[in-house]
Amino acid sequence: MRHIAVIGSGPAGYYTAEACQKQFGESCRVDILDRLPVPFGLIRSGVAPDHQSIKGVSRRYEKVALTDSVRFVGNVTIGADVSVEELRGLYDAVVLATGAPNDRPLDVPGAALPGVVGSAAFVGWYNGHPDFADLAPPLEGPGAVVIGNGNVALDVARILAKDESEFEGADIVAHALAELRGSGIETITILGRRGPHQIAMTPKELGELGELARAAPIVDSADLPPPDADAALDPGQRKSVGHLRAFAAGGADANKPIRIVFDFFAQPVAIEGEDRAERVLVERTRLDASGRAQGTGETYPIPASLVVSCIGYRTPPIEGVPYDDRAGRFANDEGRVLPGLYAVGWARRGPTGTIGTNRPDGFAIAEKIAADMPGDSGKPGRPGLDSLLAERGVDLVTFRDWQKIDTAEIAAARAGAPREKFTTIERMLDARTS
Ligand code: NAP
Repeated sequence: MRHIAVIGSGPAGYYTAEACQKQFGESCRVDILDRLPVPFGLIRSGVAPDHQSIKGVSRRYEKVALTDSVRFVGNVTIGADVSVEELRGLYDAVVLATGAPNDRPLDVPGAALPGVVGSAAFVGWYNGHPDFADLAPPLEGPGAVVIGNGNVALDVARILAKDESEFEGADIVAHALAELRGSGIETITILGRRGPHQIAMTPKELGELGELARAAPIVDSADLPPPDADAALDPGQRKSVGHLRAFAAGGADANKPIRIVFDFFAQPVAIEGEDRAERVLVERTRLDASGRAQGTGETYPIPASLVVSCIGYRTPPIEGVPYDDRAGRFANDEGRVLPGLYAVGWARRGPTGTIGTNRPDGFAIAEKIAADMPGDSGKPGRPGLDSLLAERGVDLVTFRDWQKIDTAEIAAARAGAPREKFTTIERMLDARTS
C-alpha cells in the first residue's frame, strides 16, 4: 500500500488525489488535509460567486472524495497540529497543494492605509472566507480603484458594479451582499501599468463587463494600438482586445450610473490620504523595448476611498520546505521539492492558469511519485496520522462532516441563492451536529 498526503483541498489537491487513484488503483490511500473544515479551496473562496458554472467542478472532486482510497481531513493546520516533517515520516509521499493565498504586496507609500486591500482579502470577504469575513471594505464611494489587468481585477470590478438583482443564483455571502447594496461607488478605475495588448484578461470574463445592468465599461480609443496590430496577437488575446475596442467604440451608456474606466499605461506610485485612502497617485508609463512599463514622470491623482490591489499572489513559506522567494512559491524541480515531498498547482508554478491547468499537474506528480517510489515502504499512513492527531486532541473533520455543513449551508440560503456560507470555523463545526 502507498500512503500519500496532500496538503490543501483545492483543485490542485483533488486533481492530485484523482491522479493517484488512477495511477495506483486500490493500492494507495490518499489523505487530503485542509486547515478549514470545508473543502475545495479556491472553488469555494476564490471563484467569483456569480460564476456558478465554474464552481460546478466541485461535483467531480466530490466523486473522488467519496471513494475508499481518498479521505478529506479538515480542520488540521500544518505547522500547528502536525508538521510537514512529521507527515513525511508517516506517508510515502507528501504533496504541497497549498495554492497561493497571500497577496503579492503593493510596494508603494500609503499601501497600509485603511481602505487599501489586497484581492485575497477582498475576494475572501465576498466569498465568506473565515479569515476575511470581517473586512468591511469602505464602499461609501464615489471612487474605487482596482489595480491590475488580470481576471481577478475583472472579478473585483464586476462584483463592485453589479446590482442586487444580478446576484440571483450566486453564492455571495449575505454580509457582502448587504454591504454592496449600500455602496456609493460611481466610478471604478481599473489601472493597467501596461497597455491593451498586454492585458491578462480572458475574453469571456472581459465581455461580461459589457453586459452589466447598471455599469458601463469605458476605454479611451487613444490607448488602443492601430487595429491591424491585433493580427500579431494569439486568438484569445485578439478577442479580449476586440472587447476593449467595442467598449471604446460604444462609449458609456449615459443611463448607467456606474462607470468602469480602463486606465492603461498607468502605474500607482502612492496612496494618499489623511488617516485613510483618499486618492491614488498614478504615474503615466510607456513600454520600453522589452515590453516593460517605464514611468514617464507625469503623475495625476485618482480619488478613491477603496483601493483593491489585484496584482497576483504568493504561496506562504512553510518551515523546513525550500522556498523560492523571488517567485513566491516552493522551490521545486518540476514538482519535486525534497525526497518524498512534491508541489502541485500554484504552490509549484505560481498563480497562473485556470482551474483545469491543475489537472495535468496532478497527473504529472502521480507519475513522478510512481517513478520515485516503486514499492511499498511500510510507512504507517492514515492510522499513524489518526493516532498523532488524537494524541494532540485535534478535532478533525471528515468528508461526511462536510456534507452536513453543506446541507446546513444550503438550508440557510437566502431566496434565489444556492447556499449561504458559514464564516467562522466554530459555526462550521457546529453544523456537523445540528
Ligand atoms: P494575473 O493574471 O497575473 O494579473 C496580474 C496583473 O497585475 C497583471 O496585469 C500585472 O501586470 C499586474 N501587476 C503586477 N504587479 C503590478 C504592480 N506592481 N503594479 C501594477 N500592476 C501590477 O493575476 P490574477 O488576476 O491575480 O489572476 C491569477 C490567475 O487566476 C490567472 O491565471 C487568472 O487568469 C486566473 N483567474 C481566472 C479567472 C477566470 O477564469 N474566470 C478568474 C480569476 C482568476 P503586468 O502584466 O504588467 O505584470
